[in-house]
Amino acid sequence: MKAFSYERASTPEAAAAAAVQHPQARFIAGGTNLLDLMKLQIEQPGHLIDVNGLKLDRVEPTPEGGLRIGALVRNTDLAGHERVRSSYAVLSRALLAGASGQLRNKATTAGNLLQRTRCPYFYDTDMACNKRAPGSGCSAIGGMTRQLAVIGGSEACIATHPSDMAVAMRVLDATVETVKAGGAQRRIPIADFYRLPGQTPHLENNLERGELITAVTLPSPPGGRHVYRKVRDRASYAFALVSVAAIVQPDGSGRVALGGVAPQPWRVEAAEAQLPRGAKAAADAVLAGARPTADNGFKLTLAERTIAAALAEGKVRT
Ligand code: SF4
Repeated sequence: MKAFSYERASTPEAAAAAAVQHPQARFIAGGTNLLDLMKLQIEQPGHLIDVNGLKLDRVEPTPEGGLRIGALVRNTDLAGHERVRSSYAVLSRALLAGASGQLRNKATTAGNLLQRTRCPYFYDTDMACNKRAPGSGCSAIGGMTRQLAVIGGSEACIATHPSDMAVAMRVLDATVETVKAGGAQRRIPIADFYRLPGQTPHLENNLERGELITAVTLPSPPGGRHVYRKVRDRASYAFALVSVAAIVQPDGSGRVALGGVAPQPWRVEAAEAQLPRGAKAAADAVLAGARPTADNGFKLTLAERTIAAALAEGKVRT
C-alpha cells in the first residue's frame, strides 16, 4: 500500500472542500471496498478523508411520506429498520442478499452505491483494463466474460455493477442527495446517477470532483408485494449472476429492475407495461438490444426465469 495522508472531516461541506483541495483524495467510511483496492494498488489515493464523524447515520421520515437514509447508515441497520422492513421490503431483502454479516455491519449506504466492479481483470494489475487504466484496453473482451454485462456495455468495457442495494434503490425511484465544496446541494434521481461506460469506463457516476453523498431519499412507499431474487454461484457471499428487484401488484403489473446484467442497475420503465403478459415478454422488453458474449448468453434465459420466479412469488404473496 502506498503512503497517504489522512484527516477526519468535521462537516459535509468541509469534507467536500478537502476533496477538491487534494486531487488524489478519496472519502472513506466503512472502507469495505476501498481498503481492498488500496492494498492491491488499484486505488492509490494520496489523501483519505474520513467521513465517519459527520452524523449522517440517521433514517428519518420525509414530509412527503417517504424516507431519508443518511449516507453513513450501515447496511445492517438499514436492512433491519422497522419502516424499511414493513414498507420498502425489497430494499431490506436486497441488502440482506449482499456480502456477509460482518461486511454489512461496516458498509454504508453511500459506499454501497459507489462500490467498484468485480470484473476479475479490474483486480489483476497485470492485465489491461480501461476502467483501472484508461486507454489500456479491455482484457475481458475476448477473455472470460461469464460474470460480465449483456447489455449497456461498450467496446471499451463490459463490467457489471456489483451492488444489490442499488438495484432495489432503482426500483424504488430513490434520489441521491449530495453537497459540493461551496455548500451547494444537489438531488440526483438514481436513474441519472450512474453513467454507462462508453469510451470512459473509469467515470462511473455523475458526481463532480469532491461532491459528497449525504443521503438517499425514497418516495412514499409504492405498495404491492416486494420481491428480491438473486441467482449466484453459491448460496451466500457472492455477487449476482442475475438479480431481480420487483414490486408486483395483484393484477400482475408492477416494476422490475435487474442486477448482474449491466454496468448499472438495469431498469427500463417502458418495458414494465409487458409485465402482465408474463416473464418472457417482460424480459424481452427489458433486455432488448442485449449483446451477450459466447460465455454469458445464459444470462438472458436466467433473467427471464428469475423474473418469472419474482412474479410468481409476488402473486402468491398477495
Ligand atoms: Fe476493465 Fe471493464 Fe474490461 Fe473489466 S470489462 S477488464 S473492468 S475495462
